[in-house]
Amino acid sequence: MEERIIIVGAGQAGGELAAGLRKQGYKGRVLLLGDEAHPPYQRPPLSKGFLQGKVALTDLYLKPLATYERFDIELKTGTRVEAIDRSTRELSLKDGSRLAYDKLVLATGGRARPLSFPELDTARLENLFSVRSISDVEAMRGKFVPGNRLVIIGGGYVGLEVAAVAVQLGLHVTLLEAAPRLLSRVTGPEVSSFIEQLHRERGVEFRLSCQVRGLELDEAQRQVRGVSLACHGVPERLEADLVLVGIGLIPNTELASAAGLAVDNGIVVDEYACTADPNILAIGDCANQPSTYTGGRLRLESVPNAIEHARIAAATLMGKREPYAAIPWFWSDQYGLKLQMVGLSTGYEQCVTRGSVEGKEFSAFYLKDRRVIAADVIGRPAEFIAAKRLVSSRAEVDATRLGDAAVPLTSLAA
Ligand code: FAD
Repeated sequence: MEERIIIVGAGQAGGELAAGLRKQGYKGRVLLLGDEAHPPYQRPPLSKGFLQGKVALTDLYLKPLATYERFDIELKTGTRVEAIDRSTRELSLKDGSRLAYDKLVLATGGRARPLSFPELDTARLENLFSVRSISDVEAMRGKFVPGNRLVIIGGGYVGLEVAAVAVQLGLHVTLLEAAPRLLSRVTGPEVSSFIEQLHRERGVEFRLSCQVRGLELDEAQRQVRGVSLACHGVPERLEADLVLVGIGLIPNTELASAAGLAVDNGIVVDEYACTADPNILAIGDCANQPSTYTGGRLRLESVPNAIEHARIAAATLMGKREPYAAIPWFWSDQYGLKLQMVGLSTGYEQCVTRGSVEGKEFSAFYLKDRRVIAADVIGRPAEFIAAKRLVSSRAEVDATRLGDAAVPLTSLAA
């Protein structure tokens, strides 16, 4: 019988893998199962151009539908997998049917972390949103009208991107962040304050070091009317027409853990994307993998990671052994300004900036032991490739020359 690979999760990683298998010449059956109504699509525009109405729905799709037919990929949308039976190598689907696999790839991504107020049934609230899927954006879009008051909980990339779209659409935006500065887990104070200033100039208000104490609801308990909070212990109440929660992601690992696979902040895989079960792989946002870059383990939430992880899994499934060795990188767009990040700045000793912060085109390099461990490149896309090389080469650099925009970065990476 023809071998059958089933990919659970028709998102960025799943879609890339299915196509990648065909490109590598895989001859067996490829089934791509996803519980959303759409074929695999790009999520980054959800908090950017799609929310703003500048990107059409079909432009989100990774590939036109015809490509799945052409590649003989059996794409089944609206199909939720409920359980894995590893002993019979079968999946149970929500509709009660079962599907046998030879190899299984979990590409289940994650879901938006909800607010945890035990007494609150957030699912009932009609103007409390998160942004993970097309349907999330479709549900909230009607509220993105001039004059509406939007409170955003969480100062990570998604919250900031939504803030940028919202003020440009004429909403009044207040963003609440628990940490004393924005993006505190992923960037240094210089870039945090630049981003804060960028948004303040456009009219976004911030409450930093702020704890959300609760939501005030209307009589029917269907609409949020206000958010109560405390900044530095001082209580405050903000009126809200809508609230967006952007406080991170919970990886979808339940299928794996119920099947007895190891889960530790993601489904545990090796550098070839394999779990401990030789027939099951995991890729993308849901997977926790070894990192040659940190020497430890990482679970990354980014498109480049999903693409690279899919490539590694395709190689593994084709019987090749290509370990994951990519350096983490990410991008964001806010007010048309491109922010590109490479590496992880955790534990850096020195931050060197290059270019003009005031002119909104500069790079921040994070150094440890005189080596660049990470960089944020803002409004200087031409510099990004060289910045990536600096991080991956781990070469020692001279901080003064690094900070001098007249010295080509390529000469430092030698
Ligand atoms: P996903 O794309 O989430 O796909 C997983 C799919 O699996 C989903 O469709 C899910 O519904 C489905 N699924 C889960 N469980 C089951 C099941 N049991 N049965 C069937 N299907 C199931 N990254 C960047 O690099 N740059 C950006 O600017 C950027 N912006 C972003 C903005 C937003 C608003 C969001 C949400 C993400 C953004 N990302 C960005 C992150 C990036 O989109 C993700 O890292 C990427 O989508 C991960 O791909 P994935 O395939 O692992 O997961």
